[in-house]
Amino acid sequence: MWRDLKSVFWAIPKGLSITFRYLFRKSVTQQYPKNKPVLEDRYRGLHYLTRYDDNSERCVCCGLCAAACPVDCIYMEPAETEDGIRYAKIYEINELRCIFCGMCEEACPEEAIFLGHEFEFAAYERDDFIYTKEMLLANYDNIEKERVAKNIKPLIRKERQEFKTPAAPLGH
Ligand code: SF4
Ligand code: SF4
Repeated sequence: MWRDLKSVFWAIPKGLSITFRYLFRKSVTQQYPKNKPVLEDRYRGLHYLTRYDDNSERCVCCGLCAAACPVDCIYMEPAETEDGIRYAKIYEINELRCIFCGMCEEACPEEAIFLGHEFEFAAYERDDFIYTKEMLLANYDNIEKERVAKNIKPLIRKERQEFKTPAAPLGH
């Protein structure tokens, strides 16, 4: 009994001394969302589908990204323009199922699909996590706008940008 009391009386000043010591140290707590975390360059967040300089889509709906995806969360349906140019009529990614492994990005021969740095895309409905082609292209447009504003070099390699792969024209 006396030994228990002794350890309690000893534990209180010991605990307070630790609290007191940390009072004067720099805080390691991040005040999110006021202060955003610094992400590494290779961080993999929300996807985006890229465009050529003339605004046409780079994706030719070859299906390699879907084949590489280990959780089967990419769905697409191809179509062709009157000129025989292939494009994705439907392209969807289920971001709830995605494990952000980056395999789709690695598999794409057109540098059409990338994982960006966006991680704030919480939603209340499950359906809101199905990102359509239009949403994924809009993500790219936002990233490009920010890139131009900040004068950062393009993410897509120049030699790829000049590589003339047939892509869907505007409006598809
Ligand atoms: S990041 Fe991985 S899991 Fe997500 S869509 Fe791409 S391949 Fe699939
Ligand atoms: S994103 Fe790339 S790999 Fe996927 S279908 Fe389009 S062109 Fe093919």
